[in-house]
Amino acid sequence: MVVETVTPIVGEPLRFHVRSRTEPGLKYLVDLESYNRNGECGCQHFEFRLRPVLAEHRHPTPSDRTRCWHILKARGWLLDRMLEKLSEHLATVGAPIQGVRRLPFADNRAKSEKLL
Ligand SMILES: [Zn+2]
Repeated sequence: MVVETVTPIVGEPLRFHVRSRTEPGLKYLVDLESYNRNGECGCQHFEFRLRPVLAEHRHPTPSDRTRCWHILKARGWLLDRMLEKLSEHLATVGAPIQGVRRLPFADNRAKSEKLL
């Protein structure tokens, strides 16, 4: 049986259950919309170290520095699925969206090297 690290919550697209890395069977509720879309989690690391930092600001700036492992996992899970949908959409639309071009990987690499 495959045990998923991230489980979406039906009817709540921005909330997830994320398994603990250290305690088998324990999972934390993660809400990606909280704190100006920084996200919040029920783990002790978030509660005691990260939430106090975020609570100092009325409109906190979202940052990976104020995200625990569980929030990062939920964001990664969601981004993987969003990229899949976006990629499928771009393939069916045919014409590129204004301002969006898809370069072959080799071209991207050449472009990156010019910046050095
Ligand atoms: Zn957490």
